[in-house]
Amino acid sequence: MSDANNGYHYLFGPVPSRRLGRSLGIDLVPFKTCTFNCIYCQLGPTTNRTTERKVYIPAAEVTEELGRWLAEGGDADYLTLSGSGEPTLNSEIAQVIDFARQQTQLPLALLTNGSLLWREEVRREVRHLDLLIPSLDAATQEGLERVNRPAAELNIEQIVAGIAQAREECAGEMWLEVMLVAGINDTEEELAAIREGIDVIKPERVQMNTVVRPPAESYATALIPQQLQAAKEILGPLAEIVAPLPEDYAGDSDHQQTAEDVFELLRRRPCTVNDVAAGLDIHPNEATKYIMALLAQERIRRLRKGDKTYYAPV
Ligand code: SF4
Repeated sequence: MSDANNGYHYLFGPVPSRRLGRSLGIDLVPFKTCTFNCIYCQLGPTTNRTTERKVYIPAAEVTEELGRWLAEGGDADYLTLSGSGEPTLNSEIAQVIDFARQQTQLPLALLTNGSLLWREEVRREVRHLDLLIPSLDAATQEGLERVNRPAAELNIEQIVAGIAQAREECAGEMWLEVMLVAGINDTEEELAAIREGIDVIKPERVQMNTVVRPPAESYATALIPQQLQAAKEILGPLAEIVAPLPEDYAGDSDHQQTAEDVFELLRRRPCTVNDVAAGLDIHPNEATKYIMALLAQERIRRLRKGDKTYYAPV
């Protein structure tokens, strides 16, 4: 499944992930259907910003694919509910989780922006997962609005309380992700507020990240290592810096051919992440990883045209 989706629309990978090993992504919402419109989003601007939970993708379609993948001998270190938007917006998420639980022993993880965990039914639906990875990029309303640009009805106190409540109720571990953007949510005041949030939530781990993938907004840039280190001191003893190593991806022999296919496509014409995904019939998240690997190898470069980012050989 590395060079094409092989008839899978909602599964992608397994993709190598530093945190999760080989992770099979399971997409539960259409592209960029999200409660947030983060300035650093690698998938570009949110096209459907909403807090409405509904059957964006029927569970039956996802479980059909997952059943087929398992029947074909699929293996991964984690099955990860994630994808190209906020997975808890899908009101049939519990059916997908139940199906996976019945059909496989593989551990189940959820990548979420955490914005709907204040809703009791959402927590109930995800509490039997092995691993919850919510984000907390800001802990003041101003910070939330600067970095995550949430749907109007969301507020930070509710979000922090919801994540904390989920921590209490969830059977598995919780790793909190903090994505820091230079000059946006790395002020001492914001970091101190996030630290207070961490103390309330009490996750097992706090994983700090910064902008290493092409962001939705060009002004969303990475912290330098010294700034990350200083931020880590404020976030406290649980905090660890998880610097991704995109070049590892192209070094994986399973994925070398697809990395070359991406490069060949870019040699023919400059492409956006979505162009690459559509051209090779792979998921945009997967396309992003190959592009990051090629950038890290300095084989391609970014070109900015209007509000779009294109990639082309150096
Ligand atoms: S980074 Fe995640 S939470 Fe933020 S806009 Fe993109 S998909 Fe939504």
